[in-house]
Amino acid sequence: MKRHALARLAVLFLFTAACLTAQTTPRAAHVFIVSFDGGKPSVIADSTMPVLKKMVAEGACTWDAKTVVPSITLLAHASMVSGVGPAKHKITWNDWMPEKGMIPVPTIFSLVHPHGFTTAMYAGKPKFKHLNLPGSLDEFVLPLPKADAKAVAAAFAARLPLLNPDLCLIHFADPDTVGHKYGWGSPEQKIAFAESDAALKVVMDAIQAAGIADTSVVILTADHGGHEKTHGSDSPEDVNIPWIVWGKGVKKGAVLTGPVSTCDTAATALWLLGQPIPAEFDGKPVFAAFE
Ligand SMILES: [Zn+2]
Ligand SMILES: [Zn+2]
Repeated sequence: MKRHALARLAVLFLFTAACLTAQTTPRAAHVFIVSFDGGKPSVIADSTMPVLKKMVAEGACTWDAKTVVPSITLLAHASMVSGVGPAKHKITWNDWMPEKGMIPVPTIFSLVHPHGFTTAMYAGKPKFKHLNLPGSLDEFVLPLPKADAKAVAAAFAARLPLLNPDLCLIHFADPDTVGHKYGWGSPEQKIAFAESDAALKVVMDAIQAAGIADTSVVILTADHGGHEKTHGSDSPEDVNIPWIVWGKGVKKGAVLTGPVSTCDTAATALWLLGQPIPAEFDGKPVFAAFE
């Protein structure tokens, strides 16, 4: 009997251990997540984006990652920073609605901030305020009146040398805004992607200038794609997103063939920073992208 009790204890211990990825040695000192709003892979491929494309060549990539359904901005970014799908984060709206309160699950920022990590978010839309849990971010910037990619990148670059965040989300709204007006894949939207790539250059130049490029990992992704002048469906056009990772420890030129979801962005960020991944997470670290 005693032996059985011990065995049961061991099983329980193993189960508990399996539920939670333990704290590990950090693989990167800084993780920067850059989200191109409405970043449909085929339109990115067709746009002039030399900075992003160089990072694809130097990093690991899949053009076939999946966002959540419905494929909508606030729901998808909530999953990107919480590691759980809409069924768990329960965000169903897509506007800044103060009466709705904050995201009701932890975010990667609220998880790491109490452990001494510096965190920041540079957003292109007011609805991102729903992701700013009290005490989770050292800095939340919505550079109004025109929070376009250029303004967001400038805000990031100005603050980086002073704040030096360990975990940071940077959001470029332009491709989505222009997509709703002129259509996904329109010449106007391709210009918006090119301008977002110029903003990415500002971000990457700032990271280089701060002397932290060698210890950083940058994830380039999107909240959803789009078709005609909209998105939100479960069709591949709306759901397929890029997932590109560049930087310290990344397998150079790797093509990721396994499934990657937007929830995996959150799990990968925690893993890179050596932080435990909550059992509730739907996402997993994208181990295949790293040496
Ligand atoms: Zn969006
Ligand atoms: Zn949209």
